Amino acid sequence: MTAVTTSAEHAGVAVECVGVQKAFDGTPVLKSVDLSVEHGQVLCVIGPSGSGKSTFLRCINHLERIDGGLLRVAGEMVGYREHKGRLHELRHHEIARRRADIGMVFQGFNLFPHMTVLENIIEAPMSVRKVKRAEAVADARRLLEKVGLAGREEAYPRMLSGGQQQRVAIARALAMRPKIMLFDEPTSALDPELVGEVLSVMKELAAEGMTMIVVTHELGFAREVADTVVFMDGGYIVEQGPPAELFASPRTDRCRDFLGKVL
Ligand code: ADP
Ligand code: MG
Repeated sequence: MTAVTTSAEHAGVAVECVGVQKAFDGTPVLKSVDLSVEHGQVLCVIGPSGSGKSTFLRCINHLERIDGGLLRVAGEMVGYREHKGRLHELRHHEIARRRADIGMVFQGFNLFPHMTVLENIIEAPMSVRKVKRAEAVADARRLLEKVGLAGREEAYPRMLSGGQQQRVAIARALAMRPKIMLFDEPTSALDPELVGEVLSVMKELAAEGMTMIVVTHELGFAREVADTVVFMDGGYIVEQGPPAELFASPRTDRCRDFLGKVL
């Protein structure tokens, strides 16, 4: 593989995908994904179960290796390093460094159950970014305030509601000072009355200019916050556009049928 463009040409682009492919055991899941997300933009991804949405986020976050195409995050190739016009596979420590720039929030809250809220938030900044404890704690307190959980430092995850746990998960991701935040159906596992508190934290983050890719079926959130919505189906991006446009007049039957089911 040889590099086709230099990183400098991609300074304004947070995520760039060209013909991204991913298969599991010979079964293609991402067939050819083309997408570009500018810094500061919010992209919402919708689509039926099994269409490849989670796999796509996992590829961006170095949790899966792509089989074909180009994928760049914050100007750097995922999986490869460019050197003198050639591509070299990344080593483990290089992958770890690049992953530190990407925050991810999952459907299940994924907090460490045996750690307090505070310990959950300061763990990665201290171990990966080598931030001093006092600084990590101060930052964690600031982030807890931001997500509306000031004073809950010493609580354990099991003592919190799902909405509170998900807000801690957001604070924990932000503690790494990521350039991009990925959300994979962050409110799907929540009781309906707890969805709003998580979405409002995400809205605030978007308003502050965070680059976000959000897989969600909360179309109200997408309508209000997203710059672009993409509809994925069968391993392709079938449609994309501003939410008002895509929701009001989908161009394909597949997208129209899907919207009819979730609206
Ligand atoms: P979505 O998030 O849109 O529901 P996924 O990306 O989770 O879709 O899955 C897309 C397809 O890829 C599904 O058919 C799923 O079974 C398959 N898949 C996902 N991860 C793996 C894996 N690690 N091994 C094998 N198949 C997988
Ligand atoms: Mg999924």
